[in-house]
Amino acid sequence: MHWVEVDGYPLPKLCGGHPALDFCNTWSGWDDVVRTPSGEPDPKREWIPTYDRLAVWARHASLLPADTVRRLRAEAADDPRSAAGVVRAAYRFRNALYRLLRDPADEAAFAEVARVAQSAVRATELVHGVRGGARRRLSDDAGPALPLHAVARAAEDLLSGEAWRSVRACPGLDCGWLFLDVRGRRRWCDMASCGNRAKVRAHAARQAATSE
Ligand SMILES: [Zn+2]
Repeated sequence: MHWVEVDGYPLPKLCGGHPALDFCNTWSGWDDVVRTPSGEPDPKREWIPTYDRLAVWARHASLLPADTVRRLRAEAADDPRSAAGVVRAAYRFRNALYRLLRDPADEAAFAEVARVAQSAVRATELVHGVRGGARRRLSDDAGPALPLHAVARAAEDLLSGEAWRSVRACPGLDCGWLFLDVRGRRRWCDMASCGNRAKVRAHAARQAATSE
């Protein structure tokens, strides 16, 4: 099973090894997007179809604290138009981030990722550390874009270190989920789902070959 239930919502397992990758994995089937008869991507592949689910996912991925998410969900219920705008922006950002991680030379994807990351930086504040010093964090009184800004901060963290070099895409049938493979040994997003399906298919192919 590649999903878990959080606050009554099915959400994908956190198997990417980094929240920016787990965010990309809130869409299923990157490599072979099945279209509906009207040409739209299949909505069943979307794990965050609403703002409410995006906010719950951000807590699930440990990007935002529970009390902040509770407040955002209540505010979104009062201002559904702004919330829906954030969801659309989150999809654009997710597409760009995924494209960039699959092709680090994609300038258009980088420009979109950088644009959102810049607006996330503008929403931060410098706070005094508990033991002195200072650290930068997202301002808690930010508006509905907070979940998107939290993801953008995570993406900046991934891209500005060395970890992005270890990002791999799952070769599972109709998958394409991303994960870190620091030691170069990982093949599947989740052994229990894609890995197992591949084993079952290989077994069935061997059976068919021996019975011919
Ligand atoms: Zn997979």
